[in-house]
Amino acid sequence: MFGLTGDFIGQFCQPLRLQYPRLDAIVQCMTLFESHYGSLKSGIGRVAAFGARIAFPPVCVGCRRIVAEPGTLCPQCWLDLRHLERPWCAVFGTPFSHDMGTGFLSAAAIADPPPFDRARAAVAYDGVARRIVQNLKYRDRTDLAPWMAGWMMRAGKSLIADADVIVPVPLHRHRFFSRRFNQSAELARVIARKSGLAFAPEAVVRIRPTRRQVGLAAREREENVRGAFRIPEERDIDLRGRRVLIVDDVYTTGATVSSMTRAVLKHKPAGVDILTFARVIADT
Ligand SMILES: [Zn+2]
Repeated sequence: MFGLTGDFIGQFCQPLRLQYPRLDAIVQCMTLFESHYGSLKSGIGRVAAFGARIAFPPVCVGCRRIVAEPGTLCPQCWLDLRHLERPWCAVFGTPFSHDMGTGFLSAAAIADPPPFDRARAAVAYDGVARRIVQNLKYRDRTDLAPWMAGWMMRAGKSLIADADVIVPVPLHRHRFFSRRFNQSAELARVIARKSGLAFAPEAVVRIRPTRRQVGLAAREREENVRGAFRIPEERDIDLRGRRVLIVDDVYTTGATVSSMTRAVLKHKPAGVDILTFARVIADT
C-alpha cells in the first residue's frame, strides 16, 4: 500500500518533488517505513488486496465490465482488438492479406520511404484499442501502461532485440505540466524495465508547442511537427552510434515520429526504429 503510494509520487510527480522538498521528505519516510516494516506491510497488503478486490472487482481494460483477472480484456473486447500479425510490410509492419515472403514492402513504403528503418505496432487503432489509448492519455489510467507495453514488446520483439536505447516521444513542457505525465514515456519506461534496455526520456526535447494532431490532414500534420524536436548537446552521447527505439502510443500518419527521427539522425545513430501500441490501418 505504502509502496504503491511512494511509487506513484516518485514516478508521476517528479516535478512536484523538486519544487516541494516537503513532499520529497514524505516519500522518503514512506520508503523507510516500507523497508523496516516489510513483513507487516505484506500482511496489511494481503488484507487490503482482498478488501479492494471485493470493493473494486477487476474490470476489463477496454469497457470496464467485470473480469476474472485484473489487467485483462472481456471476451467481447478481445474479439474487437485487431492484433497486427505477420505477414507484414518489412518497413511499416502493416499486415498483408497474403504472405508475400520475407522482406516484402508495402506500396506505401516503396512510394514514400520513411526516415526510420522499421515501425511496428501491436494493434490496429480502432474500437477498443482507441478507448484504451484515450483512457491512458486523457483519463490518467497509468495502470494500463504495463498491459499495453506487454503487447508492444510482443509486436516489437526483433526491434527490442536490436535496440541499444529507448526514447519516448516527448511532450512540450507546457503540455507536460497541464497533463502531468507523458503517456509515451510511461509505455517506454515499462518496456525499458522489462527488457533491460537503457531508457533516455530526456534525449530528445520538443522545442515548440505543437497543435494537437487530431483532426489535421496528413500535410498539416507534417507542417505542425516540422522542426519541433531538438537534441540537447549533452544528450548526443545517448544517441551517437546506438540503435534508437522511439516509443509512442499511436502511429497515425507517422508525421511526429518522422520529424523526431530526422532530429535524431543528425546525431549519427546506428539506426532508428519506431514502436507504438496502436497504428491507424487504412482498411479498418
Ligand atoms: Zn471489455
